[in-house]
Amino acid sequence: MNKLDTSVQYIKGVGPKKANFLKKLNISTVRDLMNYYPRTYEDRRSFNKLINSVDGEKINAKVCISGTATIMRPRRGLSITKIPIRDDSGTGFLVWFNQAYMKDSFKQGETIKVNGKVKRRGLDIQIYNPYYERDNGKNKMLGRIIPIYSLTEKITNKEMIKLISKTLREYLAYEEEILTEEILNKFNLLGIIQSLINIHFPKNKELYLRAKERLVFEELLVLQIGLFALKNRYNQENKGIVFKECQQVDKFIKSLSFSLTGAQKRVLEEIVEDMESDKSMNRLVQGDVGSGKTIIAVLSMLKAYHSGYQSVMMAPTEILAKQHYESINDLFRDMDIKCELLVGSISTKQKKEILNKIEEGEIDIVVGTHAIIQDGVEFCKLGLAITDEQHRFGVRQRAALSSKGENPDVLVMTATPIPRTLALILYGDLDISIIDEMPPGRKKVKTYAVGNTMKDRIYEFVRKQIIEGRQAYIVCPLVEESEKLDLKSATELYQELDEYFGDVRVGLLHGKMKAKEKDEIMMKFNNHEIDVLVSTTVIEVGVNVPNANIMVIENAERFGLAQLHQLRGRVGRGEHQSHCILINDSKSNVAKERMKIMEKSSDGFVISEKDLELRGPGEFFGTRQHGIPDLKIANIFSDMKILKVVQTLAEDIFKEDPNLKLEKYQPLRRKILSLFKDKLDEISFN
Ligand code: ADP
Ligand code: MG
Repeated sequence: MNKLDTSVQYIKGVGPKKANFLKKLNISTVRDLMNYYPRTYEDRRSFNKLINSVDGEKINAKVCISGTATIMRPRRGLSITKIPIRDDSGTGFLVWFNQAYMKDSFKQGETIKVNGKVKRRGLDIQIYNPYYERDNGKNKMLGRIIPIYSLTEKITNKEMIKLISKTLREYLAYEEEILTEEILNKFNLLGIIQSLINIHFPKNKELYLRAKERLVFEELLVLQIGLFALKNRYNQENKGIVFKECQQVDKFIKSLSFSLTGAQKRVLEEIVEDMESDKSMNRLVQGDVGSGKTIIAVLSMLKAYHSGYQSVMMAPTEILAKQHYESINDLFRDMDIKCELLVGSISTKQKKEILNKIEEGEIDIVVGTHAIIQDGVEFCKLGLAITDEQHRFGVRQRAALSSKGENPDVLVMTATPIPRTLALILYGDLDISIIDEMPPGRKKVKTYAVGNTMKDRIYEFVRKQIIEGRQAYIVCPLVEESEKLDLKSATELYQELDEYFGDVRVGLLHGKMKAKEKDEIMMKFNNHEIDVLVSTTVIEVGVNVPNANIMVIENAERFGLAQLHQLRGRVGRGEHQSHCILINDSKSNVAKERMKIMEKSSDGFVISEKDLELRGPGEFFGTRQHGIPDLKIANIFSDMKILKVVQTLAEDIFKEDPNLKLEKYQPLRRKILSLFKDKLDEISFN
């Protein structure tokens, strides 16, 4: 066993009880402890003058004991010990409560370092219950940079410092340098031993930065090579289905009412190549809203059908699933392909029938929601598993979908554009195809950000468009999630607008409605029996009503840019000029800036990159984005520069030695294997 895998319990002074507390911090082994990096640091290298101390704040001071202790007992059960001190700026007292034994702790004239909270009334300066160290002793908590750790209640920062410092002393020698001499030199990186020492106990800022850089570098490198290796292994081990070459797909393409864009053709070719080869496909198709991903999915399913395999396509909402189902039925109307819809809202009896048929192989294409991945859904011969709008699903759900077959080819589709650097990490084990071209003839959606005072004029504009035969969406934030916020609920807005618009037909759609109701409303909107659809963000993904050319978004400042872009993608799908109106009450500069970006840009990549800059990754991905690997020190967003360097290096190493067989890469290889041991299934379906 590697010494670093020793349980923390066996470190002197820890024992089972403390080991349990450490476990809450995910620290089980010596290695975990050494890799438990500080949350932040406190620079205690310099000392303050007594005269500059501030009432209520902590002071770090070097003082001389200037007299003998006095003890007061103002009432029973309370003793106050005061010891006079001075430095070259003034005088004061160290004060202890109920610790009378402190009185003999110091010699008069002795210099000590203290840290404690100041109580100050004019020139009367007292430091309460201070922590102290002798001046001639070792700097432990004072006179140096102190690491601050994230902790549980049961462990103090001081204990943690002691524990880590001891662990480093005893175990650092067992730490292995996993970066080769060549890499260390080429990128001017600090060695592992110095890095670990200085990340916990930095001697100065420069060393701290170098330590951090090295550890970030290492962490990203291990992750990136690991992901490459995973993809490589997946490709080698998983002999996939070899789908037949077939003319029918080409014939079908010719029968479409439009011709594919160059980007669609290219992506389709990439998919076809994957499908016809014996490696199983694991491919992500990225394409902005409206770039035409659906038809690509449909063509792939057609190919699977002609090789005698079933396909499944999972969408995040019933509305979207239903829409896919309908357009597939429409496209395949002249063919003998059986397609079924499987969603939560169908009756048990109906469901049973469908499940039976799927299992018997009587159904060729299944379209649905999460309902598809539930137990009891068994396929006869599943060959192709497609996830639409994959960013709406968790890693496990996508994995569950492909586990419905024996190594089916996997296609995931997303409209959330991610720069390549990030895609290599987030989808490191997937091949990526990008549809970077819009179907011809699309008019740019005219976008305006307006204040609340413009509302009436906007509604009049909507009315005019309705009279000309168009349709409109009016989006308000989610009912469920914003109950506490002072926002108009969809229902209120609906009633208000229904009254306002008079004989214009207004409909309401929100997440709390039953699936059947939602479908009815959507169907009516689709059939132009509704002119204005007041809706929550449930229409965010996928829905396609080309005659709708107006998107009004209320409280637009509350949405993420990626989400606004997605919503805006619902219009601009037909021949008429479309408009997107962002009603907002933005006060902050960032909010105004964000609205401007929406006005200016219609490129999902540009928008998401700007959003990232302005709001940071948390907002960008939202809580829905799963599967970002757990990193200890690196941050794939703020460490983007290092990430880029690392990716090039990872690609080079991979070219040189794909299986890391060379002697010099053995330590690196061991590290990657240990990291990916239990993450394998999580990462491989990202
Ligand atoms: P998304 O990529 O957002 O899923 P869709 O697949 O829903 O986009 O496509 C949006 C619309 O564009 C659909 O009405 C579809 O029929 C149409 N479309 C797709 N490809 C083309 C094309 N090459 N030329 C013209 N229209 C297309
Ligand atoms: Mg789509």
